[in-house]
Amino acid sequence: MKASILTVGKEILIGSITNTNSKYISEKLTDIGIEVNRQVSVDDDLEEIVKELDYSTKASDLIIISGGLGPTNDDITRDAVAKFLNRKIYIDEAEKGKMIDRFTRLGRNMTPNNLKQVMLIEGSEKIENMWGVALGESIEFDGKRIILLPGPPNEMEPMLDYYFANKSFTNENIMVKSIDIIGLGESVIEDRIRKMTFEDDSVSINTFAHGTYTEVKIIGKSSKKDELEFSIEKVVKSLYAEFNTHVYSENNDDVADEIVRILKNNNLKISFAESITGGMLSSSITDISGASKVMETSFVTYSNDSKNKNLKVSKNTLDEFGAISENTAYEMAKGIKEKSNANIGVSTTGEAGPNSSETEVGNVYTCIYFTDENYYTKHYFFSGDRNKIRRSTVNRVLSQILFVLRKNFKE
Ligand code: ATP
Ligand code: MG
Repeated sequence: MKASILTVGKEILIGSITNTNSKYISEKLTDIGIEVNRQVSVDDDLEEIVKELDYSTKASDLIIISGGLGPTNDDITRDAVAKFLNRKIYIDEAEKGKMIDRFTRLGRNMTPNNLKQVMLIEGSEKIENMWGVALGESIEFDGKRIILLPGPPNEMEPMLDYYFANKSFTNENIMVKSIDIIGLGESVIEDRIRKMTFEDDSVSINTFAHGTYTEVKIIGKSSKKDELEFSIEKVVKSLYAEFNTHVYSENNDDVADEIVRILKNNNLKISFAESITGGMLSSSITDISGASKVMETSFVTYSNDSKNKNLKVSKNTLDEFGAISENTAYEMAKGIKEKSNANIGVSTTGEAGPNSSETEVGNVYTCIYFTDENYYTKHYFFSGDRNKIRRSTVNRVLSQILFVLRKNFKE
């Protein structure tokens, strides 16, 4: 089996971005034993793409295309593939519904262009995008296959991994099962899985970070279907034993939704004291309908002075340990809880960069406070740019809140 990689976009041709997608896709294909015989980049030009498809479908059995699936006018990859195959494009109604929900939630207007991202080519298999908006798809024709993926590497890479994890290019049976884990980072989860021993060659385990939770995907491939089910169940059982209360669900449920639901069912109020996240954490809860029943107050306390005045973080603590410390996180969470008369106070403090201050960029402390006897402080170290560090903080705190709620309260 031979594969061509087609990367679409003017930015690649004029040298304004590095074509990391080609490298990534090539590496993955090589890993699974598929020979890459072509890598081509073309302009956002319908005729150019069609011409290249004509060539690459003669040269290869599998064609992977990245880029040009966005909402703007220069995003024409899907049109080009449809034209080449002489097939129609339609709107995936389920995805359209999800998109409308998302826009409504964010209070934004949807433009007709946005619908381009939930369109598919007739007869294709959808590749869901849990990391962004634009759908991917895989189309079979004449014993060959064309795969379309969006351009942004942070979407393209996990989508491709996910697709390969589920797809077999042989006649083997495939069986897949996922469990979602909260309150632990992906690297910790991966490390613990690596230390577990599984004697079964037919089963592999992969982790996929989805922000607020990590999905552990168990994939079995074997020619013997009956044995496969048994093997998968065995692995699932040992994963439950290893991660017990960290196992959240098997359904990829939304973590913020779950938090609001449990708080509501237990008649609890939560308040936030945010520094590094500047209101993003509160906003991820107020995004959920019904949040007014569970959220009491939120403070964004950015300066030391504000932390001291509004949350009663002591000057001593700020001087001795610094604003970015476990002690400050603890006092912030306790401060907001007491000030707002909530049941739970949650705090974030850290350094998002790009310049380091009293501490290294990426250092984050958080606290979930119930009482002096029952509180949870955490120290994280995140990499990435300012926005990524703040996003990671929000995701990991939400994950930790849900973990702690499930530990302390009934569903
Ligand atoms: P969007 O919805 O963001 O427009 P898209 O699927 O239309 O996604 P493009 O418009 O082609 O994709 O590219 C979007 C961004 O993704 C580019 O600005 C670039 O940062 C990145 N990107 C695209 N192609 C590649 C590539 N081959 N290698 C690395 N990065 C890429
Ligand atoms: Mg685009």
